[in-house]
Amino acid sequence: MATKTEKRPVEKNVFSYESPKQRKNSLRQQKPGRKLAAGTMRAAGDTPLKPQKPQKPNFGKQQKAPSRTPGAASRPAQNRSRAKKNLPPVKLTFLGGLNEIGKNMTLFEYGNAAFLIDCGMSFPDEDMLGVDIVLPDFSYVEKIKDRIQGVIITHGHEDHIGALPYLLSQMKFPVYATRLTAALIESKLREKNIHANIQVVNPGSVLSFGDVTVELVPVNHSIPDAVALGIKTPYGYVVHTGDFKIDCTPASGPMIDLARFGQFGKEGVLALLADSTNAERPGFTPSERVVGDSFANLFKKVGNKRIIVATFSSNLNRIQQIIDAASQDGRKVAVSGRSMINFVNIANELGYLHVPAGILVDIEAVDRYPKDKMTIITTGSQGEPMSALSRMAFSDHRQVEVGPEDYIIISATPIPGNEKAVGKVIDELLKRGCEVVYEKMYDVHVSGHACQEELKIMQGLTRPRYFIPVHGEQKHLQKHARLARSMGMPAENVLMTEIGKVVELTPDKMQVAASVPAGRVLVDGLGIGDVGSIVLRDRKHLAEDGIIVVVATIDPENGLVVSGPDVVSRGFVYVRESEELLERAREIARRVLEECCHKHTLDWTTMKTRVRDELSHMIFQKTKRSPMILPIIMDV
Ligand SMILES: [Zn+2]
Ligand SMILES: [Zn+2]
Repeated sequence: MATKTEKRPVEKNVFSYESPKQRKNSLRQQKPGRKLAAGTMRAAGDTPLKPQKPQKPNFGKQQKAPSRTPGAASRPAQNRSRAKKNLPPVKLTFLGGLNEIGKNMTLFEYGNAAFLIDCGMSFPDEDMLGVDIVLPDFSYVEKIKDRIQGVIITHGHEDHIGALPYLLSQMKFPVYATRLTAALIESKLREKNIHANIQVVNPGSVLSFGDVTVELVPVNHSIPDAVALGIKTPYGYVVHTGDFKIDCTPASGPMIDLARFGQFGKEGVLALLADSTNAERPGFTPSERVVGDSFANLFKKVGNKRIIVATFSSNLNRIQQIIDAASQDGRKVAVSGRSMINFVNIANELGYLHVPAGILVDIEAVDRYPKDKMTIITTGSQGEPMSALSRMAFSDHRQVEVGPEDYIIISATPIPGNEKAVGKVIDELLKRGCEVVYEKMYDVHVSGHACQEELKIMQGLTRPRYFIPVHGEQKHLQKHARLARSMGMPAENVLMTEIGKVVELTPDKMQVAASVPAGRVLVDGLGIGDVGSIVLRDRKHLAEDGIIVVVATIDPENGLVVSGPDVVSRGFVYVRESEELLERAREIARRVLEECCHKHTLDWTTMKTRVRDELSHMIFQKTKRSPMILPIIMDV
């Protein structure tokens, strides 16, 4: 809870609404480096941020003096904090992204400033039968929505933008994002017919929200235009890395602005929140160029076969490298899969993909080109059953029929849980005579997330007083916390927390101060949040054991079973082979209902319970199965 409840501050943060069409134009016109709305945003290089105070040793100092009493603030920090005694704490409320990879969403509050960082979705676990996607719980955001000044998005991946259409259909906030990210968000919103105020901000610019400013610092990741956030508070910076890696030779865009992180460290970083995805992996994540070189070599070796590369549609840096390799090899490129086509179109239109003229051809036209002159980029690297690659593998793709003349590269690592599905697709492709290569065989994939040494560099540059690992499952968060401690961070300055927790920070103290509702909201078709644990339990029961429905009509006046009981089953046994069993079930149901009628126990609930109990007892004895039993009793 904020200590002040001021009105939504500063008109200057609220920009005029633009229609999607206008926005599209302005997206095109916006040149990198152009400054936006003077007074609200500026390029960080133009006007250096005013230092808080003379730059004395700062919050990072504990790393230089590990012998100090753990947790005690250094003298200058103490003096500073005394002067700031009356200032409110910085508050971070985690609404997603901890103990999970997905649905990243964090609320930042300080004084009169309040904004959300990212608004992602996640994919359902295997036990969430029939669920399409999973959203963060917005109920706390709804509660304080009048104070929230906007949503800042770090990059255009689903786990960071996927829940925005759902948030913005319920509440209106301006969204701040870099150009490519903004275009991807816009395309999502357009699909759902949602209008929103999307502000395009350049990497390097600074936004102001009441008492704090937020600088967008360019980082490397698997998609261009990814940024970290340097949030400047009177206590120093809160640095949120977003998803990042350190790539000294990125496939596109600039290298991560390490110097800026170092400057934050010098000026004083109150807290670092950093990407933990690869915290278990030692060393450095190789540069995306490594994959580029692999592609170049493979393409040379392939000879006269057609090349099909599967990757994530959102991995635009990878797509760029495939296009480069194809172009060097004199091949055309066709794109298959709805999301892949969407990403390529948006990125190409905005100039984030460098596509040589005439190289892209429509997937409908693939057969017009000789196989050795063709490359297809496709979705399906995770073995998703409806994806283009799966359809090719199972001869269900409208335009592409694969065979011995195809060389297939799976340029991604299966996300845990997807290994089987990927294996199945690979098997099927091999059966059709295709040659298939994947990560383990050649360097056809590198991660977009920092490994241990890069994470340490981030710690070393920012020298935070407090560290909160984010964007990871428990094992990743723990490993990341351990890394920070191994660099001399006092254990009490490292916090592993969970969603729903409100963490308060001042230079003197970091504490979990409160809890708010947080969790997962399941989306199934048009229903949002109407599938809960009871519905899921039933779905699981039905999926595992099937159902038996018993239908009977009763005359309550005369205490007679007038029709039925009929017994129908689905997903339990094959009826023709189990007539005897179902006949037995019918007899039991009839006996139970007649007994109830004779005894005048004509209470519907009791009757249903007895039918259910006796049938399930008999069925379990005979089959050792427990189908769902659904008695339907009607009166005449
Ligand atoms: Zn990402
Ligand atoms: Zn992410």
